[in-house]
Amino acid sequence: MIDCREAVRRMWAYIEHELEAKPVAEFEAHLDTCQRCCGELEFSRHVREMVAEREDTTPMPSDLRSRIEAMLAGANDAKEGSA
Ligand SMILES: [Zn+2]
Repeated sequence: MIDCREAVRRMWAYIEHELEAKPVAEFEAHLDTCQRCCGELEFSRHVREMVAEREDTTPMPSDLRSRIEAMLAGANDAKEGSA
């Protein structure tokens, strides 16, 4: 079972359908047990949709993408405390 940190790391690749079957299965298994990551997945999808609408056909800029990843990872760290 992956932890929240790993789930957040995979979240964007999951949204972009860049993950292999096994990581997807592990990620979805984590979501089944973790409300918090479910919420963050919803948030990430909203961001992805917003970007997709605004930028139309161009892919999301990698700097924006990495900023969002860092933000999600940072939020997780803050909530997890010493974990
Ligand atoms: Zn989680």
